[in-house]
Amino acid sequence: MRVPTQENHGKNAEYPLYIIYSYAKGVKRMAKMTVITERCKGCGLCTAACPKKIVALQKEKRNKKGYFYAECTDQDACISCAMCATMCPDCAIVIEK
Ligand code: SF4
Ligand code: SF4
Repeated sequence: MRVPTQENHGKNAEYPLYIIYSYAKGVKRMAKMTVITERCKGCGLCTAACPKKIVALQKEKRNKKGYFYAECTDQDACISCAMCATMCPDCAIVIEK
């Protein structure tokens, strides 16, 4: 079974099966909110959209394009509302329900 990664996101038809498999086997859940860092341009729209205020721009690490990318600072607090992903103009955020 192929495991979904940032690189193959959107091309993995087995993804729902992986989620079911994860629960059945007790595999640790993936992060609820994941930023595809190489797509992010650091615009900050997602940080303003999050109702839980748990999305922030990196202050030290940049992606290959030189942008300080966004990240979720508290996965446990994420409610998977997808407001951040909806706001992102570059489709750089993946939400797991
Ligand atoms: S899915 Fe909702 S709660 Fe989670 S990081 Fe995005 S905006 Fe915040
Ligand atoms: S809205 Fe998208 S491009 Fe802008 S900082 Fe957030 S993840 Fe990056």
